[in-house]
Amino acid sequence: MPQTLKFEYKTEEGRVSLKGYGFEGTKTPKDNEIWFDYIPKERAHPDLIAFACYLSFWPFIRGGDTVEFPFPVSPRIQEAVNKIHYTYRGKEHVTVLNVDPKIEPRQTPENNTPVLLYGGGVDSLCVHTIMPEIPIIFIAGHNGPGLRIQKAIAQAPDYHIVTSNLRTSLNQPGNWPVSTAILVPALLSADDRKIGVVLSGANLDSLFMGAGTVWKSEVLKSPWFEVFESIGLPYFPISGALSVHLACRTLVEKGTASRAVYCEIKGGNCGRCFKCMRRQMGLKAWGYGDINWDSYNHSVIHELLEQRPVLYRNTMGVAIPHIEVPDWFTEKTGHIPDIGSSLNKAYVQGLQPFSHYPHYDELLSRILTVVEPMTEKDIQIIKGFHKCL
Ligand SMILES: [Zn+2]
Repeated sequence: MPQTLKFEYKTEEGRVSLKGYGFEGTKTPKDNEIWFDYIPKERAHPDLIAFACYLSFWPFIRGGDTVEFPFPVSPRIQEAVNKIHYTYRGKEHVTVLNVDPKIEPRQTPENNTPVLLYGGGVDSLCVHTIMPEIPIIFIAGHNGPGLRIQKAIAQAPDYHIVTSNLRTSLNQPGNWPVSTAILVPALLSADDRKIGVVLSGANLDSLFMGAGTVWKSEVLKSPWFEVFESIGLPYFPISGALSVHLACRTLVEKGTASRAVYCEIKGGNCGRCFKCMRRQMGLKAWGYGDINWDSYNHSVIHELLEQRPVLYRNTMGVAIPHIEVPDWFTEKTGHIPDIGSSLNKAYVQGLQPFSHYPHYDELLSRILTVVEPMTEKDIQIIKGFHKCL
């Protein structure tokens, strides 16, 4: 049954709260209030607030629903909501009740700045290491950030930790409502901070290489990029140019590797999971840290290594020649070939679709002061990596 949903925006007790009403049926939010411990000095553009509501309550908005946002919005919001719905949830329309054609979409402010959505992993830490002056936004769970994150962020010249129940208020605790919901603090603070572009820490391996399985150039056709740009807050996955291997090298060379968070189990770096293993392999390949292989010698890791193709074999393959790997690892994986030095260069060419974004040239030139760009030959190698592995 279609729902009639109404959203409210309130600022009280040091918090912004986004409330949703009208959810029906078996799938409803555990809590209808999503809060952020931040009050904008200047209320954000109504389109940004509307989109913050949409992302926060995304799992519970269905095709056919009618939605009223906290303030009248520009026609762009109707288009944005339906672009996303058509892509992920079929063709049924969502009707936005309070569209006002007289409202202009957000314009990028003069003297605007990029911000980095810091996640604490090697990828966003690499962007931060190369460009420490870019302000950081970190979204923490309702208990605040873990100690390792606090320590890492405390060394940044300009950072903003936003605590929120965004990740724990839904029916699936620990999951974001949708991966792009991490942009909500940027949406709410965009006008206060004069944000021109939001940078993220997705890496080459995930964005283009299908987690080490197959080349995926279509990732840039994701409607999210188009939609965030259309509402006046471009979203730029800048570290998509950098492989995990390259990020690890940069952290080791610049002395920031100890600040990296590998996983989110037990506050980070549990030392037992697949992600910790890959990050430790990546850093060890450049001479940082030690790997306690015994702690990875368990059934969960074994099962993952027995999958074909082995996930993230591109990262592991380029690290293996530089580290000692135990026999049980080699027996499980067989021979993972090294695709060579191409992963040690930046795939800046892949970011070309974003070249009209604010600060694009300056951001890329900063990256290229630290790393080399891929050549055409490198690009052919990484595009064909799944054939040679
Ligand atoms: Zn872990």
